[in-house]
Amino acid sequence: MHMRVGVIGGGQLARMLVPAAIELGVEIEVLGEAPGAAAAIAVTSIGAADDAQAVLAFARDKDVVTFDHEHVPQAALQQLVASGVAVRPGPQALAVAQDKLLLRERMAALRLPQPVWARVDSADDLTAFIAAVGGRAVVKTPRGGYDGHGVRVVTAAADVADWLGAAPLLAEELVPFRRELAQQVARRPSGGTALNPLVETVQRDGVCAEVIAPAPRSAGRVADAAADIAVTIAAALEVTGMLAVELFETDDERLLINELAMRPHNSGHWSMDGAVTGQFEQHLRAVLDLPLGSTAPRDDWSVMVNLLGGPADGDLDARVPGMLAQHPTVKLHRYGKQPRPGRKIGHVTASATELDEAVFQARAAAAFFSDPPVQS
Ligand code: ADP
Repeated sequence: MHMRVGVIGGGQLARMLVPAAIELGVEIEVLGEAPGAAAAIAVTSIGAADDAQAVLAFARDKDVVTFDHEHVPQAALQQLVASGVAVRPGPQALAVAQDKLLLRERMAALRLPQPVWARVDSADDLTAFIAAVGGRAVVKTPRGGYDGHGVRVVTAAADVADWLGAAPLLAEELVPFRRELAQQVARRPSGGTALNPLVETVQRDGVCAEVIAPAPRSAGRVADAAADIAVTIAAALEVTGMLAVELFETDDERLLINELAMRPHNSGHWSMDGAVTGQFEQHLRAVLDLPLGSTAPRDDWSVMVNLLGGPADGDLDARVPGMLAQHPTVKLHRYGKQPRPGRKIGHVTASATELDEAVFQARAAAAFFSDPPVQS
């Protein structure tokens, strides 16, 4: 079984696929946007993900091509398929993760639960929608958004005057959610699936800050509903690889679909250390159509905290020994990125029998990398 996997995009997700590929004995090569990418260790070609020629040249000698992000244009994806490359997930599936309007249409067709939404083509459309949902709405650019860029809470069409020229836009009710959850599932091209435990995700300023696995108080009905939603989407869209379904949980315990990611996802980083099979290994197994691994947690609770921004002096290295000394049970993952305000430069995961202990360990360890440095 000699296999060569190509990953398009050289960010931290591509980087974290590398150790999993080494363990499985799979060759991995990455198309990075620029030298010095997070996945530099495996970058064999430099080129933009929207440069069809670069993508095609990179893919030529790969058995399977997969992705660090969803931003490869459909035209390039179609060309890859036409040239005989196994593209996983495939273009039809990826299209739904690339375009939030298409996502809403497909979820509606599948009769899956989601926020009240509308496609708006003009200021008048948006004004009418805002009135219909009680005076406040969330407006999203259908394409290219990430980490809260391209998402605005509005009370008037004028709040997105700068976006209306690029309409259509997606408008949604402002969901009064109790918390956000994420359900991951892996799916093989031959159809087998493996569900991860449902997790709780905590966002700050539109960016994932923490993940708790499994989601507290979610056994039974909520977990079953989330699992059903994820498996339904994976099968209906024929997703291959990891799928993450981001969900809102309302006060009356309804689950509403926020968005999808068809790749390893921040909500699954905990599984690298906290589950029998981490999401990066599982993604490789799935895209290579290998038997999927057990997703059973190794401990009662795992908590992942993102390292956001990093120390103001930019000297991440200097903070490492202190953290490792104080928190020998915590697992540190760095992404090889320069600290910059708000940037995801790494994460830590702590696992424990008690949730409080895992939360404390992970937060205290992460605090070593913020300012002022916290010494425990
Ligand atoms: P991105 O693609 O940038 O991750 P999301 O669509 O996931 O954007 O939105 C980012 C965050 O904004 C969500 O995690 C959630 O906290 C908030 N959000 C998005 N849509 C809604 C909504 N309809 N109602 C309430 N909050 C929302």
